[in-house]
Amino acid sequence: MTRKYNFCAGPAALPEAVLKTAQAEILDWQGRGLSVMEMSHRSDEFVAIAKKAEQDFRDLLGVPDNYKVLFMQGGASSQFAMVPLNLLGQGGQANYVNTGVWSKKAIAEAKRYGNVNIAASTEDRNFFIAPSQSELQLSEDAAYLHYTSNETIGGLQFDYVPQVGDVPLVCDMSSDILSAPIDISQFGLIYAGAQKNIGPAGLTIVIVREDLLGRELAQNPTMFSYKVAADNDSMYNTPPTYALYLSGLVFDWLKNEVGGIDKMAEINQRKAAKLYTAIDNSAFYGNPIAIPNRSIMNVPFTLADAKLESVFLKEAEAAGLLNLAGHRSVGGMRASLYNAVPEAAVDALIAFMADFEQRQG
Ligand SMILES: *Cc1c(COP(=O)(O)O)cnc(C)c1O
Repeated sequence: MTRKYNFCAGPAALPEAVLKTAQAEILDWQGRGLSVMEMSHRSDEFVAIAKKAEQDFRDLLGVPDNYKVLFMQGGASSQFAMVPLNLLGQGGQANYVNTGVWSKKAIAEAKRYGNVNIAASTEDRNFFIAPSQSELQLSEDAAYLHYTSNETIGGLQFDYVPQVGDVPLVCDMSSDILSAPIDISQFGLIYAGAQKNIGPAGLTIVIVREDLLGRELAQNPTMFSYKVAADNDSMYNTPPTYALYLSGLVFDWLKNEVGGIDKMAEINQRKAAKLYTAIDNSAFYGNPIAIPNRSIMNVPFTLADAKLESVFLKEAEAAGLLNLAGHRSVGGMRASLYNAVPEAAVDALIAFMADFEQRQG
C-alpha cells in the first residue's frame, strides 16, 4: 500500500495517524465489541466521544464559555440559509462582503430571506485582493455582517478580522478554521463544513454566541434552528456519528501530536511560504493574488502555457501528487495545503514543479 500526497480542496487529506487509529478501532471500539458506526448516538460511549470532541475543539480554539459549539449537517451550503433564517429577523437586513465564489453563494441565499447590503466587493479587481477595513460600507440596523475568511477557489484570504462594532460578525471559515489561532470573542457566529480542515464530509460545525440564539424566523425548519441544536446538545436527531468520531480523532491529533494551533499555524505558514516562493521565483508559474491576501490553505497557480496544464496534471499524478487541478469554474492548478498535508508533500510538489519547468519551460 502506498499513500500518495493529496492536495484536494475537499474532501481533503486526513492525518495518517488518524486513519490508522480509525482502522484499528473500526471493528471493536475500545473493547466494547462494536464499531462507532454501530453505536446508538445516545449511548454513554458515543456521548463520551462527542463530549471529548467538543472539549478538544474548544481547547484548541479557546472557545469562550458563552459560545455554543454545534455539530450539524448539510455542509457550509446549508449555513448560507441557516444564518439568515436564524439571525435576520422578519424583513431584516444584513451586510455581506463579496470576495468570490463562496461569498456570492451565501449572498444569493440570504437574498431569499431579507435585504442584503453589499458592504464591499472586489469583483471589479477580479477578487485578487480582499477589501480593506476602510472600504467596508456598513448599513445601520444590519442584523450581522457576513464574510468568507478564506475563498477556497480563488485562494484569497483575509489578513484581518473586520471590525463592525456591535453588529455580530458572521464568518464562513470552512477552509481555514483550525489553521491558525483566532480570537473567537470577535465573532457572533462562525461556521465550517468539516471536509476541508476538520474531518470527513457530513459534519458541519457552528460556533455561536449564546445571545444570538432564539432570533429565528417563525417558519425556520426545526432542523435548521441553532437554538434547537443547542438545547439538545446537537442531538435533536441522529448526528453524523462517524464523521464526528473521526473529527474528534483529528482534534486529538492536533492537540497532542502537532502540539496545538500555534504550532500548526507555524507549520502552515512555512508550507505556504515555500510554495509561493517557488512560484514567485519562476517565470513559468504564477499566482495573481495580492501578497497580503494569499491564502495559506489554498494556493492556485497558473502555467505560462495553459496548453501544458493537462500534461502537468498527468505527470504530477504519476509522481504521486494528487488532485492539483483548479476548481472547474476557474481552471489552472490549485494545491490545497490543509493541516493534514505534510510539509514533505509540499517539498515533493516544489521539486516536481522545478523539474517540470526544466523539461517543459
Ligand atoms: C467548501 C466550501 C463551502 C461549501 O461547503 P459544503 O460543505 O460543500 O456545502 C462553502 N464555503 C467555503 C469557504 C468552502 O470552502
